[in-house]
Amino acid sequence: LYPQGVTVLGATGSIGLSTLDVLARHPDRYRVFALTAHRSIELLAELCQRHSPRYAVLADVQGVGELRTRLAALGCSTQVLGGAQAMIDVAAAAEAPVVMAAVVGAAGLLPALAAVRAGKRVLLANKEALVMSGRLFMDAVRSHGATLLPIDSEHNAIFQCLPPAMQAGSGVDRGITRILLTASGGPFRDAPLDTLANVTPDQACAHPNWSMGRKISVDSATMMNKGLELIEAHWLFGLAPAHIDVVIHPQSVIHSMVEYVDGSVLAQLGNPDMRTPIAHALGWPQRIVSGVSPLELCKIGRLDFSAPDFTRFPCLRLAYAALEAGGTAPAVLNAANEVAVEAFLQGRIRFTDIASLNEYVLTHVNSQAASDLEIVLAADVRARDEAKARLHTLER
Ligand code: NDP
Ligand code: MG
Repeated sequence: LYPQGVTVLGATGSIGLSTLDVLARHPDRYRVFALTAHRSIELLAELCQRHSPRYAVLADVQGVGELRTRLAALGCSTQVLGGAQAMIDVAAAAEAPVVMAAVVGAAGLLPALAAVRAGKRVLLANKEALVMSGRLFMDAVRSHGATLLPIDSEHNAIFQCLPPAMQAGSGVDRGITRILLTASGGPFRDAPLDTLANVTPDQACAHPNWSMGRKISVDSATMMNKGLELIEAHWLFGLAPAHIDVVIHPQSVIHSMVEYVDGSVLAQLGNPDMRTPIAHALGWPQRIVSGVSPLELCKIGRLDFSAPDFTRFPCLRLAYAALEAGGTAPAVLNAANEVAVEAFLQGRIRFTDIASLNEYVLTHVNSQAASDLEIVLAADVRARDEAKARLHTLER
């Protein structure tokens, strides 16, 4: 049985690197089968040297030659593949029964789905995949007998607070009244509202508690991230939006909670370090070492809670609206947001334009029933086109 082969999709990212850190602590349990990246050739070569995977995939085919040259110079025998289809192939390969899906954005959907369709243990960090195609994704998990384990810290916390039967995905447990998704509120939780229009990408990416990739950091600052997580929670745990509440908790110590009919509220606590949910999902149902230091509650001293402000964080309201609208609306919102965040990071639009662009696209691209993947992918394309056309009116 051990060591198990693991494919890490998005290995050069924040989650990918944390995953490799945990895997390296358990050489008897895991060996790295394949690593993927988009364009980070130098880092991917370094990771190949350190972890000796069978395959390295570069999604951007242009860099394949350079990666091969580097690996040859390092004396590393990892085989290099290029392109989106190669990512799908290593995600589905039988030699790796475990797949970490940690590509950022819509680009992660097809490889994550390929791992699901191969019936694997899929560790899902790529929330955008579930936001885009929640019903289809969850249907595929069931019909292919995959084991889907959430990596997003909130969803991993909820998973840990659920009764075991529901963790295994066997039906809705009526004893649950609410899920409480905690949110730090990001770097602008208390900033004067009239300063938000002028915040810079670096300010938006300076998260008070977590160190993450730039896209999710901006999403945390707008709270679009919590909105995407609301949709993610809906699909993972089968609860209506009215039963999923967001609670601002600035310390990021409680990662989320589950409330039951008898008044019990179960919470999962820990330091804000993604190696905890990663180790949890790798080891489940066992527990394995993650390298995260113990939580020192007496040093933290206090835990605060408050209600989110929808005026400050309109993206959160848009996520509830998209989930209520159903069909392709969440895919449309996600695509608009990817375009908006990229434009903000490039200095082309203001921070506050992200929410207005998202709202514009959500109201101007009609939602359809998300009955197959082609419809979802077409909605993603339409929303991107609509967002890019609208960008010109906002550009500085
Ligand atoms: P990063 O930006 O740090 O890393 C993204 C990874 O995906 C990199 O390996 C990148 O390669 C690769 N990638 C980017 N675009 C493409 C593409 N078009 N095709 C193929 N590969 C691509 O992101 P994070 O690690 O922060 O986040 C990854 C996912 O996990 C996101 O969905 C995020 O929402 C989720 N998540 C992250 C958390 C965190 O703490 N970071 C917490 C909870 C969820 P390259 O380096 O070459 O660009
Ligand atoms: Mg999260």
